[in-house]
Amino acid sequence: MKALRTIAERQVEVLDLPVPKPEPGEVVIEMKATGICGSDLHPYRRPTKWHLEGFISGHEPSGVIAEVGAGVEGWRVGDRVVPYFRRVCGQCYECRANRQNLCTNRRTSYGHQGCDGSHTELMRVEARYLMRLPDHLSFLDGAILACQGGTAYAPLARMGVSGRDVLVVSGLGPVGLLSVIFAKPMGATIVGIDPSAGRRELAKKLGAAVTLDPTAGDVGEQLRQHFPDGADKLTETSGASPAHQVIGDLLKPLGTAAIVGLGNPTFQMPMRHLAMRELTVFGSSIYPNVQFDEMTEFIKRHDVKLESIVSHQLPLEEGPEAYRIAADANSGKVCFSFN
Ligand SMILES: [Zn+2]
Ligand SMILES: [Zn+2]
Repeated sequence: MKALRTIAERQVEVLDLPVPKPEPGEVVIEMKATGICGSDLHPYRRPTKWHLEGFISGHEPSGVIAEVGAGVEGWRVGDRVVPYFRRVCGQCYECRANRQNLCTNRRTSYGHQGCDGSHTELMRVEARYLMRLPDHLSFLDGAILACQGGTAYAPLARMGVSGRDVLVVSGLGPVGLLSVIFAKPMGATIVGIDPSAGRRELAKKLGAAVTLDPTAGDVGEQLRQHFPDGADKLTETSGASPAHQVIGDLLKPLGTAAIVGLGNPTFQMPMRHLAMRELTVFGSSIYPNVQFDEMTEFIKRHDVKLESIVSHQLPLEEGPEAYRIAADANSGKVCFSFN
């Protein structure tokens, strides 16, 4: 079977590996769609020792069960599934409270730090992480929801985004674009910010009322030309320090910001904004797997077109090219398709 791994800075290798067999408690999934996430691009730009030692990249699996291992109940060959990629202890307080994304005793996630991921034709996963992909969603939808869709949705839900809000979406990569298409049916008036003209244009098509170019001058002043009081809420998906610096200037007093984008080891913003405007700023890390069904139901009710953020679909064999396109930060979401 074909699979991909990152082997050096900006180098992805196409591998030919033996077909995996499920261990007890596991299934093997035949991949139907999988994407490249920002978290695959961080090591692509700066590989870690884990990457240089080699493992299959990717953590957005979506497919059908091809083989069921011993002792697995409730799942059959042919079931459409999306495995939750964050592997957890299942026993800590957060796990028991159905907030597995916050497990305090996490195991290595699929597609991270030596644990094989989803950029492969066949993937072994523990059955406990399987989530059922409803028939009204495509496999591509499943791959989008596996990580980035949920990452976009969860902070909007936590902020209670509604028609009363001017919402800034900072960064219009895949997670930012997904934030736009989820926030639109929630009712928000959306302001998208990104230096890429192509991404700003896509955000407008997907429902942003206004888009701003941070390289064209002070974004706070640009925003206030449209909304004199500033924004009520903000979701920060870029992970860039200059974007962090202006969060407080974009928000109204008592405004709320979710910090979603990684890729920067620290977060800093001016105290004069944080304290003087009494802002609420919180971090957000993927989504609790219990929220998967809520998201699929929301998508159905509001006819959310997740696939509209996909700009490229390539076969796994073109992995090096797919990573290059994704790392350019000018495209929508880049995904792999399978025959
Ligand atoms: Zn991801
Ligand atoms: Zn746990």
